Amino acid sequence: MVSRVIPVDPFDLVIFGGTGDLARRKILPGLYRRFEAGQMTADSRIIGAARGDLTEDAFRALVAESIAEFVPKARQDKAVIGAFLQRLHYIAIDAKGDGGWAQLKEVQRDGVVKAFYFSVAPALFGDIAERLKSHGIAGRDARVVVEKPFGRDLASARALNETLRQHFKEDQIYRIDHYLGKETVQNLMAVRFANILFEPLWKAEYIDHVQITVAETVGVEGRGAYYDTSGAMRDMVQNHLMQLLCLIAMEPPYHFDPDAVRDEKLKVIRALDPVGPDAIVRGQYLAGGGQGGYLDDSENPDSRTESYIALKAHISNWRWKGTPFYLRTGKRLRARASEIAVTFKEPPHSIFDDAEGWRENVLVIRLQPNEGMNLMMMIKEPGPGGMRLMQVPLDMSFADALGADHEEVPDAYERLIMDVIRGNQTLFMRGDEVEAAWAWADPIIAGWETRADRPQAYDAGSSGPEDALMLLHRDGRRWREIR
Ligand code: NAP
Repeated sequence: MVSRVIPVDPFDLVIFGGTGDLARRKILPGLYRRFEAGQMTADSRIIGAARGDLTEDAFRALVAESIAEFVPKARQDKAVIGAFLQRLHYIAIDAKGDGGWAQLKEVQRDGVVKAFYFSVAPALFGDIAERLKSHGIAGRDARVVVEKPFGRDLASARALNETLRQHFKEDQIYRIDHYLGKETVQNLMAVRFANILFEPLWKAEYIDHVQITVAETVGVEGRGAYYDTSGAMRDMVQNHLMQLLCLIAMEPPYHFDPDAVRDEKLKVIRALDPVGPDAIVRGQYLAGGGQGGYLDDSENPDSRTESYIALKAHISNWRWKGTPFYLRTGKRLRARASEIAVTFKEPPHSIFDDAEGWRENVLVIRLQPNEGMNLMMMIKEPGPGGMRLMQVPLDMSFADALGADHEEVPDAYERLIMDVIRGNQTLFMRGDEVEAAWAWADPIIAGWETRADRPQAYDAGSSGPEDALMLLHRDGRRWREIR
């Protein structure tokens, strides 16, 4: 069922931060999976770069450990792993110093795609970009991949964009939001724009509201000091949830082309209304289940950082005027679940007496777990006893639809790295998009920072703070259960 794997052009990928957590958990295991699938040609090379004084063998051993830990056992083939490790090299480079750059220059070769993954703190982006240029390593055809966080407000995002643009053109810069690499997220575009079914109904006239939920069971897990500089709004809403909202709300692009898609997403962000304090609930998890609360995990006992946020957003354009988009995300919640639920309005007139049995049509797009889509429909309850209505799901689970091939669906990082090599920016954020998202988020954050209010406490393992339930109750609506 999964389509044939088409190998990408030979490439040299330099991973700055090649020994870091992200490289070991996601980037390198992902590259192995693409190699194993036959998508990465045998003449491609991956060059790890970090300050650590590692031999090539030590780097290969580290990557072998990562593959053993993070790749499903069924995909671990000793011979293939051996061949993959041969594609790996390591150069000790200090982003801020002179060591290693001449060596990196020396190993450059022509005729292959050149990509540079900045899997390091954003404070190093400028240093690396500048040295790639001054040493003549990255030319006009080079591509650079940058990780989140892309700024912590509009000013810092602008400064990062300016730094990168001093050395690279926008069409060379790949800003990763790994949510865009998820299979279901891309399927959202296919469902909306490859079917006639939904588009005529896809507007305020027929859609009552949209809920976007990203719930995690984990807490900040030892990253309290970092998280205190971020919080759920910066860490999740400004980027991941915003991207999901854009894909739901955007107008059909004229073509599935990077700038056509990103132009439409940008229009959505620019049409978002400011969000006032009444439309926002922030929360912090309490201790529970044998684990400490947020204030134990943070290094600041008075931290006012939110580990949960729910908000109501409105898009001021013809299509969406009057349809609220409810967004929520949080840590230490009841279940790990990410989904988008589009709730349709009631039919204009009911011909059935059984009004009791009626429920709204809901299109649920599940990102995790059990990726898939579900359309909640009304039907007649089977059997005698008159016309009684009941709701049933039209279920399309990827696991069922793809069977054994489901395992083959690349994870978000694999897909996105291959898109970098193919030179396709559709699933990457453009600089103006990121800036527009911060321009929307900044006043919201400034609101609670200037008021100095505290997030509401919520129980670990719950659905979030009480006030978040009220946010919808006030509008006569309810959140979907997190499960
Ligand atoms: P990490 O575990 O701290 O790794 C940082 C890497 O950068 C190490 O390889 C480190 O090796 C290298 N490094 C540090 N300073 C350097 C310098 N001056 N010159 C060259 N290399 C240097 O960090 P990470 O978790 O992998 O995160 C990397 C980036 O991805 C960050 O921007 C982070 O926000 C982002 N990110 C991470 C995750 C994740 O799940 N980890 C998820 C999303 C985004 P040496 O110390 O040997 O130099």
